[in-house]
Amino acid sequence: MAYDYDDQNIFAKILRGEVPNTTVMETDHCLAFRDIQPARPEHVLVIPKGPYVNYDHFAREASDAEIVDFTRTIGKVCDAIGVSPDTGDGYRMISNAGEHGVQEVPHLHVHILGGASAGRMVERG
Ligand code: 5GP
Repeated sequence: MAYDYDDQNIFAKILRGEVPNTTVMETDHCLAFRDIQPARPEHVLVIPKGPYVNYDHFAREASDAEIVDFTRTIGKVCDAIGVSPDTGDGYRMISNAGEHGVQEVPHLHVHILGGASAGRMVERG
């Protein structure tokens, strides 16, 4: 299946500088910024700059350089905001995709949640 990327989504606008954000970290291929409605004291979103809808789209089509940068940036952000288990109290990383994943913004993003317990992983349905 080919993904159709909507370049009017809010994260595309953030990347173009049309919508402000609170940046935590920027690299060649990624931007990390604070979620506008934090669910925990630390709630940072990490996104690739490329037009990828979700993780499987990214895994299939991104370059090795983009994938390495995204992976390393997530780790660096966890260190920078003090939630890495070796320097802080840990975090939860979430990436929602599609209807059952209940993804609201159709641009790949990883949520990093920390600063308080994330609770049970997912409510049993
Ligand atoms: P999703 O449900 O797609 O995984 O999560 C989307 C996230 O984007 C939500 O946590 C929401 O609060 C966040 N969000 C939506 N619009 C904006 C915005 O304009 N700025 C920022 N910083 N976060 C946003």
